[in-house]
Amino acid sequence: MTDSMAGLLERQQAAHTLQMSVSAAQRRERIQQVINVVVENHQALAEAMEADFGGRSQGFSIMNDILGSLACLKYTRDNLEPWMQNENRDVFSPYDQLGSTARVEYQPKGSVGVIGTWNAPLYTLLAPLACALGAGNRVILKPSEVTPKTAETIERIFSQHIDPLLVAVVTGGVDVSASFSALPFDHMVFTGSTTVGKKIMRAASDNLVPVTLELGGKSPVVVSESADLAEACKRLALAKSNNGGQVCVSPDIIYFPRAKLDQAADLLLENFRTFFPQMSDNPDFVPVVNQHHCSRVAQLVEQAQAAGVEVRSSHDVASLSDIAAQDKRLPLQLVISPSKDERIMQEEIFGPALVLLPYDDISEVINDINSREKPLALYYFGEDQAEQANVLANTTSGGVSINDCLMHAAMHDAPFGGVGASGMGHYHGREGFLSFSHMRTVFVAPVHDPRAEWGMLPPHYEGFKEAMAAQVTAD
Ligand code: NAD
Repeated sequence: MTDSMAGLLERQQAAHTLQMSVSAAQRRERIQQVINVVVENHQALAEAMEADFGGRSQGFSIMNDILGSLACLKYTRDNLEPWMQNENRDVFSPYDQLGSTARVEYQPKGSVGVIGTWNAPLYTLLAPLACALGAGNRVILKPSEVTPKTAETIERIFSQHIDPLLVAVVTGGVDVSASFSALPFDHMVFTGSTTVGKKIMRAASDNLVPVTLELGGKSPVVVSESADLAEACKRLALAKSNNGGQVCVSPDIIYFPRAKLDQAADLLLENFRTFFPQMSDNPDFVPVVNQHHCSRVAQLVEQAQAAGVEVRSSHDVASLSDIAAQDKRLPLQLVISPSKDERIMQEEIFGPALVLLPYDDISEVINDINSREKPLALYYFGEDQAEQANVLANTTSGGVSINDCLMHAAMHDAPFGGVGASGMGHYHGREGFLSFSHMRTVFVAPVHDPRAEWGMLPPHYEGFKEAMAAQVTAD
């Protein structure tokens, strides 16, 4: 597989070198090919995702992965032309007086490798693909092995309808992903965990491959004293239930004013029960993807409970571990005020559980957020504008939604990406186009070269150093 992947990459890169510049019309036509493949095969893709998750409803997969991918592809298709235009830049003085010009040109990089994840098994491939094709590149996709039917379906439909020298798909396990990440791509995009992201960056460094890392983490939610608590809890319960909590920007830790935490817990559970009156076999709730991940989430909760931490469940269940062995639809678990030593306070939950923490003063919340790794998302619920500004100015995160969750990640006209441990680089919108373009500065010299008359040519005259030093000023 490694040889054939390396050969495939070489052929793609040779095809790129043969046709370095790709017109706007060609880029649109290439993106349209992908759109057509997705539209024509959306049913097969939704069925594959349903099977891989053991019951992810086709309606959800169409909304999340099919429509989400199509929106990225269409946005790039319809906007790429102005992004591609050369930009004139100011030339330094006095060359600007002498007829010099300068511009920035946006060149395709070549072949982009994209490693996707299982939680959004189509979207995490096709959202970066949209930007990479928009920037005039060729692409090799590596779907996650955790959703094998989806991976096989993507491989089949792309190989049937799209030239592999434009977009190819390789499938396989972690060994294939590891070999893939060591190939000399012109850019690599990895979506996944922070732990594996570090390995990807290490492998890419051998070939100096630039990387976009779309990672995860524990996204915090600040619920202000000024928030409409009922509305906030409704939106939070809905956001946490999205994809069974298996979303990179899913709320993970929620800070409530101490006096409101108990009522907030009730409201979260009530709202969750309204959306999902029963859990078992409920097609509206996405199961945890497999037994391993379901047990992992169950253990995060059960370990805290065993240590004496209060846990509240939206539905009565005898044992979370039993659900892991059954239909994997865990009810919402609220883990209330665990100590920092608990695993659930350290690891990304990535499933239907939340940590609730009380606070007395907003500065405690800001300090706690800043004591952790930089998160992918941060959420603020409330109407206190000064407090909101304080939270935003004194924390950092990949992105922010105010008075809701997840929404900023759906913006097409704004960069999406992490910071620090939650990743680097962006996709979506013009920033996605820029991530996959080489920004090449072109300087055009004036006809007349003034350097001889300025005494700038060697051999330098006596006093050259003093003349240079005289210009070292602080104004
Ligand atoms: P993961 O890191 O386990 O796996 C992701 C991909 O990495 C898979 O395709 C896998 O084949 C590959 N991989 C695994 N081990 C590897 C290795 N040693 N070398 C090279 N490749 C390897 O992540 P996951 O469990 O699939 O996904 C969950 C994580 O992804 C969560 O942390 C979540 O927050 C994050 N995520 C981030 C985004 C985002 O846009 N920022 C989106 C979705 C998920």
